[in-house]
Amino acid sequence: MLLMLTSILRASSALLFPPACEICSVPLGLQRQALCQSCESKIRVLQAPFCVSCGRNCLAENKTCGNCAGDFYFDRVFAYAYYEGVMREILHHYKFNEKKYVAEYLSEKMISFFKAHLKVNDFDAVLAVPLDPFGHNKRGFNQSALLTRRISKALSLEDRSYVLRRKRPLSPQFLMNKSERKENVRGQFWIAAPESVRKARCLVVDDILTTGETLSECARVLKEAGAISVTGLTASRGL
Ligand SMILES: [Zn+2]
Ligand SMILES: [Zn+2]
Repeated sequence: MLLMLTSILRASSALLFPPACEICSVPLGLQRQALCQSCESKIRVLQAPFCVSCGRNCLAENKTCGNCAGDFYFDRVFAYAYYEGVMREILHHYKFNEKKYVAEYLSEKMISFFKAHLKVNDFDAVLAVPLDPFGHNKRGFNQSALLTRRISKALSLEDRSYVLRRKRPLSPQFLMNKSERKENVRGQFWIAAPESVRKARCLVVDDILTTGETLSECARVLKEAGAISVTGLTASRGL
């Protein structure tokens, strides 16, 4: 009830006052933006050349950094920024307060990042990492699906998220160590329409990359269904 009242108040105050920075509340003028310049400058964007298996900076293109597991089914992964400070906070607002204009902000950043480092012609389809059914119902929307929709539109790549499905609810991932996570995601995904990804070069979108196991498992089932390549693109990654 309190939450509902708060969101009603917030929504109506947005009509009365100019929008404010999502993090520090400084007024932003009339244009709807998520962050002020000062807060945005605190986001640590990942820099090329990127490690193919973790997306962190490494010494040369198409190599691994040597500090990550590197044993994944996906071909490459790219993350826009590190999951810390402002980025962590804004993703949290997005995920739990359903602030959809934050999706607008994040997807714009991911699209520019894509354009700077990847080529649209290297892909046939975009797919979202599906939420586990429990999480989806509880929050009411899939934050990765929303990012995917915007990215697919901007890049004119077909959104084939319907292909990639999730089976059973996860036990909370954040409580697990690395090997427990790997075990936990194994066999969780399935392909609803294999013909839609056969011979396709797929871009798989998620909000956060942690160990890489979830993305790797998505890549495994997509390739089993005949996908040629799977590249991950996430809004953020762990440090
Ligand atoms: Zn700010
Ligand atoms: Zn690496």
